[in-house]
Amino acid sequence: MKKEKILIADDSEMNRSLLSDMLSEQYDIVEAEDGVEAVSILRSSCSELSLLLLDIMMPNMDGFGVLEAMNQNGWIQDLPVIIISSESGSAERAFSLGVTDFIARPFDPEIVRRRVVNTMLLYAKQKRLISIVEDQVYEKERQSDLMIDILSHVMEFRNGESGLHILHVRNLTDLLLSCLVRKTDRYKLTMSDISLISTASALHDIGKMGIDEKILNKPGKLTDEEFAIMKTHSAIGANMISDLPVHQQEQLVKTAYEICRWHHERYDGRGYPDGLKGDEIPISAQVVSLADVYDALTSERVYKPPFSHEEAVEMIVGGKCGAFNPLLLECLTENIERFRSALAEDPLEEAKRSKIRSISEETLKNEGGGVSKRTLKLLDRERVKNSFYATMTESIQFEYGVNPPMMNFSVWGAKKLGVDEIIMDPLNNEKLLGIFGSGTREMLSDGVRSTSPDNPELKLDLPLKIEGEPRWCRIVIRSLWSDDAEPQFEGAMGIVQDIHDAHQKMQELEKKAARDQLTGLLNRESARQQIELKMLDHSDGNFALAIIDIDDFKKANDVYGHMFGDEVLKFVAAKLRDSIRQTDISGRYGGEEFLMFLEYKTDIEKTVDRIRRSICGTYEHYNVSVTVGVALSCELGRDYEKLLHAADEALYYGKRNGKAQYCFYNDSMKDILTDET
Ligand code: GH3
Ligand code: MG
Ligand code: MG
Repeated sequence: MKKEKILIADDSEMNRSLLSDMLSEQYDIVEAEDGVEAVSILRSSCSELSLLLLDIMMPNMDGFGVLEAMNQNGWIQDLPVIIISSESGSAERAFSLGVTDFIARPFDPEIVRRRVVNTMLLYAKQKRLISIVEDQVYEKERQSDLMIDILSHVMEFRNGESGLHILHVRNLTDLLLSCLVRKTDRYKLTMSDISLISTASALHDIGKMGIDEKILNKPGKLTDEEFAIMKTHSAIGANMISDLPVHQQEQLVKTAYEICRWHHERYDGRGYPDGLKGDEIPISAQVVSLADVYDALTSERVYKPPFSHEEAVEMIVGGKCGAFNPLLLECLTENIERFRSALAEDPLEEAKRSKIRSISEETLKNEGGGVSKRTLKLLDRERVKNSFYATMTESIQFEYGVNPPMMNFSVWGAKKLGVDEIIMDPLNNEKLLGIFGSGTREMLSDGVRSTSPDNPELKLDLPLKIEGEPRWCRIVIRSLWSDDAEPQFEGAMGIVQDIHDAHQKMQELEKKAARDQLTGLLNRESARQQIELKMLDHSDGNFALAIIDIDDFKKANDVYGHMFGDEVLKFVAAKLRDSIRQTDISGRYGGEEFLMFLEYKTDIEKTVDRIRRSICGTYEHYNVSVTVGVALSCELGRDYEKLLHAADEALYYGKRNGKAQYCFYNDSMKDILTDET
């Protein structure tokens, strides 16, 4: 496969060779020593290049000079440019000159390679998009050409006109309109309007279908009576079109109506059927009528020989065929050579390609759903700008999109976290979960669910693993919503800030931790925070998360009263606290359920058994017994939510099997539990 070509313009030989080393394996490299050389290479072979890596400070002509030349010559549209520079001060100006990206020195080979690939991919995508639309427009043109071809033959057969008349009128209409838009913007015609009018012009005489063949094909002059009948063809044609049961809203149909009805009107109001004057006559009909007359004069008809082009123009300008828009007459006289050749041309000639391209670009620009090349570019520039500023300010920024599920980190952020800049399906990305912990899910789906279009911001304090170290971070997220009447959640953007050392944070948390009033244990939320931080902090440890539930506690309440029940809870809490190490975590999950989180090396079963036994005992005359459900991180990963859920299932299993025991979660429980329910 042919390698893509990259031009490196940098006055430093060292830099050129550094970049060349990084890229030459994948790309062909062309080098320029200064701006002048770069421009001369661009002049001779811009279209062969796929990317320009441009230095700003260069002798003879600097990078800005090159960018200006690229703008003047229109090269900037076709060739993406990445600035390679050590000073970021010029970034704003470079972006305004159409630069796509900015790579700061010193070069990080990984970043250079990635940016180069990204930029080229993006451009390829845009080019592909344009060529798809081009194909569609081309296909549309081809079909209408075909239709016109068929129509021409039908009309030729009936009207006794040369079958070429319709093609000629079409080509002339196109020519006149192209010339007209260069002269004036009075009619607000776009390239697609021109194409539409030219296409619709094919129908101008369709009303002749309703005229007696004898009159149509009569050699020689028509009588006044016959001429009156002949004149009805424009109204008949218009009625044929307005009687169409469908497509009335189509612009083509509306334009065809105008053309059919008014292509015999004259600029001075002396035409038929309605005697419209000046610009009361739609411009489509004005143009077609001139084209019609011109072609009628220059072709042979049963009643007359063909006039020469010069004669025809003279007759028209001299008013022999009625009055026309002076601007259109100018178009005619100024382009007589082109008119002559237009009549000789094949309607599907190659020059159309450029017209199709213009229409495609317009389509891209105007169509509701589509995105213009320019918009794409602007959007991409925003993205690049953001990532540039994010790099300069050294912050971890990200965007999250729901459809498709995708997370996009700022370059600096991705590097800091050690993840890719773009992560597909982030909620199931192992690496990301390892960094954000179960918080990823909370942050991106559950968390943002608590936001709304009116209240889109959310602050979350989460433990995060950054460069292998546990840190405590504040994440500020802003959710993004669709514009629909019922706004849909589309994603979020966020920034990670306030990064604290996790150990320090742990002590802080411990100090400030919210505690359960009755038992003095951590409450559910504080316990969760500490457990998550702990799992991050000791990444190579084995952890067990257990839920401890007092057996038949309701009875204690029922028989001895609520106050007594409270005392039992305190008793259990104290026993629990006393039977675990300081570094372990205990908490009150709620009601008569407690949490226990242990780091262990070996034989966790023995430990759990010991703790369970020590909690059990008699409080006053009451026999306390507990059931314990346990889940292990070595089996389920360091995901708090997952562990909690599994411990709960194990607990439920233990309760079902006679209580007063411990029970470790295993996958088979799932089936048994679902079978039972
Ligand atoms: P099982 O062995 O299946 O766990 O049965 P149980 O009776 O222990 O469990 P159940 O969930 O049926 O009842 C728990 C009881 O705990 C119900 C509730 O009144 C009581 N409880 C919850 N919180 C408190 C509290 O703070 N103080 C007191 N005294 N009782 C509480
Ligand atoms: Mg006519
Ligand atoms: Mg209980």
